Parts: sequence; structure tokens; C-alpha cells
Amino acid sequence: MYYIGIDLGGTTIKGGLVDENGKIIKTVVEKTLAHRKGEEIIESIAKVALTLIEKHGISINDVHSIGIGAPGLIDSENKIIVTSSNINFDNINVEKKMQKHINLPIFLENDANCACIAEYVCGSMRGYENAIMLTIGTGVGGSVILNGKIAKGSFLGEGELGHIIVDYSSGKVCGCGQTGCLEAFCSATSIIKYAKELLEKNKDSKILELASNIDNIDAKAVFDAYDMGDEIATKVIDRFNNYLAIGIVNLINIFRPGIISIGGAASARGDKLTDPINEKAQKMIYGNGFKTKIVPAILGNDAGIIGAAMIARL
Ligand SMILES: [Zn+2]
Repeated sequence: MYYIGIDLGGTTIKGGLVDENGKIIKTVVEKTLAHRKGEEIIESIAKVALTLIEKHGISINDVHSIGIGAPGLIDSENKIIVTSSNINFDNINVEKKMQKHINLPIFLENDANCACIAEYVCGSMRGYENAIMLTIGTGVGGSVILNGKIAKGSFLGEGELGHIIVDYSSGKVCGCGQTGCLEAFCSATSIIKYAKELLEKNKDSKILELASNIDNIDAKAVFDAYDMGDEIATKVIDRFNNYLAIGIVNLINIFRPGIISIGGAASARGDKLTDPINEKAQKMIYGNGFKTKIVPAILGNDAGIIGAAMIARL
């Protein structure tokens, strides 16, 4: 049996045919052309799914379901995209519209939750009942899975783990308008911003050698300079580690998950990313007996497609 996963973004519709082990067998990519009507975009999604089936020479009966990961506020129970900032999808019932074109069960989730589902069903968090994923990218995203299900609140918009407040008194303004959020200290954007601030005062740093000039600085250059013992990079990554550990300890104290996985480009650092967080978190945790594992994510960019395909397996 196969699963189809759709990673819907403002620019592209990425579709994948995924096997029962979460392995991507085939992919098809189409432009979203986000200025179009929602119905037209859904027709393109259905076309991507049909192309995947045709390209692999299977029939619709070999496919269990189609899962769609979409940006914005999602009512996954009723399969409705409530709002999506980049796409014309206000209050669209995705299941009904999809089934006009292809008669398969439809699953829908927020795209941030899909990365978590992928790591949970067939990646770094496989085999755990309670698990949390944090993704470090332009922003900080995340999801909580409790007893095998995405934790849902009474209102839409739960699981915005990047906006838990880790230092209100810092006065550091976050992209969301609030102050002192985890994202304001631990996104790739905030790493780059802080490095640039420090480099304004002192240009003697390996970061500049690695990035060749100040405009080319990315989080990887800062992490690489940190590994080389660079003073400015150490200051930047120490701050990142401290606040990430605070955020993670808060999550552990509330949920006591078996495992927390950290995704995003920095996950390629493997244990080098998570070792300092493990060490700091152990010191800060409430009560005795630190049992939660903190690990790097392993599925990389494929997590969006795999997670969408695996919504059906939660
Ligand atoms: Zn925020």
C-alpha cells in the first residue's frame, strides 16, 4: 500500500508517493501560482496526485490516502483551511473539493505539524508515544504529540512553540510582535542578526573568513566558526544554546515527553547540536530523573512530504 503526501507552499506544490516505511518512491512538483482561486489550486494538487499514481504504474486502489500539509490555520478534523496568508484558501473544505477530482480519503494538517509527524512515524522519534519537535529555520516552529496524536487546544493556533516566552525582560522583539520569544533568540535569523551586531564592533572573527563578507553570513558559518573556537561565534551560539535549553526545559516540565527532536538545517550537525542542550537542560529540569532524549531530526527536507503522507498513520 502507498501513501501520497503533498507539501503545499506559496511557491510550489510538492507531491510524493511514499511507501509504508516512509520512503519516498516518486516526486512531482508543480507551481502553486498562489494568485489563483483556491479551487484551481486544489485541482492542481489532485493532478499532482494522479500523475504520481500514473508515473509509478499503479492504480488508485493501491493508494491508502492523500495527506496535505498546508501553511496557515488548519481545522484538521473538518479538513478545512481556515486562513492561509499566502494562498486564497479561506474556509475551503479541502476534502470535498479534492474528492471531486480523485476519490481517496483526504487528510489535512498544518505544515509545521507534518515535519513532526514524519519524524514521529518514521524518523528520529519513531517508537515514542509522547514527542515534541522544534524546527529551527527562518523562524522557530514546533509541534507536540501526546499519546500518539497532535495535541490540540480549545482554539486554533496551538503548538506555536517558537513563541513561548523565554526572556520577556530582555526587551527583544519577536517577528510576531511579542517580546522575548524563543524565536527571537533561536531562529537562524536571530543567530545571523546577533552575529552581525557583534561583528559591527569587532571584525576579528572566523565568521567573516568563512562567509567572505558580512552580507553572506548564514547560521552555518556561525556554527562552523563556533566549532573552530571563534570568540564571537561562541558568544552567539552560547546564547542560542542557553535559550534553546530554557525553552526545551519548559516544554519538558509541562509535557514530560519521551523525546524531543530538533529539526531545520542545523540538524545536520547531529550530536554537536544537541549535546550542549542536553547538558544544560539536565541542570535546569524540575524534579529528579532527566529521562527525555533530545536528538537531531534525520529526515531533512523530505519531512514535509513524508509527514503529510503519514498523517493517516497517527
Ligand atoms: Zn514571537
